[in-house]
Amino acid sequence: MSKEFRIGTKAVQSGYFPKSGESRVVPIVQSTSYRYDTFDEVGNVAAAKTPGYLYTRIGNPTVTDLEKKYVELQGGIEAVATSSGQSAVVYSIINIASAGDNIIASSKLYGGTYNLFNAILPKLGIKVSFVDPEASEEEILSLAKENTKLIYGETIGNPGLNVLDFDKFSSVAKKLDIPFVVDNTIATPYLINPFEYGANIIVHSTTKYSDGHAVALGGIIIDGGNFNWANGKFPDYTTPTGPTDLIFVDEFREKAFSGKLRVNLVEEFGAAQAPLNAFLTILGLETLHLRMERHCSNALSLAKYLSRHPKVEWVRYPYLESDKEYGRAKKYLRGGASGILTFGVKGGIEAAKKVGESLKVASIVVNLGDVRTYVIHPASTTHIALNEEQQRSAGVTPELIRVSVGIEDIEDIIADFEQALDKI
Ligand SMILES: *Cc1c(COP(=O)(O)O)cnc(C)c1O
Repeated sequence: MSKEFRIGTKAVQSGYFPKSGESRVVPIVQSTSYRYDTFDEVGNVAAAKTPGYLYTRIGNPTVTDLEKKYVELQGGIEAVATSSGQSAVVYSIINIASAGDNIIASSKLYGGTYNLFNAILPKLGIKVSFVDPEASEEEILSLAKENTKLIYGETIGNPGLNVLDFDKFSSVAKKLDIPFVVDNTIATPYLINPFEYGANIIVHSTTKYSDGHAVALGGIIIDGGNFNWANGKFPDYTTPTGPTDLIFVDEFREKAFSGKLRVNLVEEFGAAQAPLNAFLTILGLETLHLRMERHCSNALSLAKYLSRHPKVEWVRYPYLESDKEYGRAKKYLRGGASGILTFGVKGGIEAAKKVGESLKVASIVVNLGDVRTYVIHPASTTHIALNEEQQRSAGVTPELIRVSVGIEDIEDIIADFEQALDKI
């Protein structure tokens, strides 16, 4: 699709183009396998001499259509879909680093990613140096070692709602000549194109705002095509590797990252996206621009309402003028800061739970990023395994309630919070 089109047009139109007489809407190719007339045709597809499909773990037309749509929306040169956001995060790391390597990561991360980096990757021999994302460039650079292979951060952290300092992180990556990997799940392609701010690889959990209706688990990794894998630090890209002894920079050139990802990880580790999930995610993406606009405006209105409420101690939303992240949010995010806000009620944990459980429009759900409004009280739920001190260092205080603001009418959302706050 033409690069000139704006994001809403791309959201609706890009990815799948039917030929004359074909179905207008992307078909769900619910098949694991594909038939051929001759063995030679199969051989040519297997050797990547001709394009085609053999087996759905390696590729599926509906999944390809999702990948094409995502590249149009997010930029970059190639997207690879996976079965979940979590598998996308794992793959984005192990496609670059292996046993004996080190990575640098922001310490303000999604819980699942934090656990992966803190407890699982070290078992595979990959050490993670966590850094406070507010540390100075010099402090971050001082963590680098000979074998440091990438730097990782999230556009909008959760529940800390910190906005990543892209200029600083990309400057570190450039100085170290390593890729800058960004999880853009919460911001979505609607609010920012991290490739414009120095990212080399972008990952998303499409389970959240991309799907937007809480019906399909999925992840995607986008290759910016803007990193030189032949700089001497990445021998897996420049020497024969993998089951077929490919030299990835020769075989796939600017798509070395995504080519290696498909051949080595999606194919051999097997966390491929299901065709039905790809279809549902495509359907969701067609309204991404409308939903995000509404998520952002509803979240800002609710944040303003809560910040004036006498029973509310504090409110955090990066697009509130009083918020500590406001400057950075305005600099990097186009028109809003997504649908997540946090607030603290006066009266601590019991008052917080009472308010959360009194809501009627909003429901108690651990997920975020779909059309419905959700609340969660992290101290008594998602972070219950941590003691109070550990909770505080993860940004979770006893009174904190996280809201994933949906796209319902804002008057009804506000009235709901009003009646719940009246209960304390
Ligand atoms: C949910 C989430 C993930 C993990 O994605 P799943 O689809 O649940 O596997 C990763 N990063 C962020 C920021 C998330 O919100």
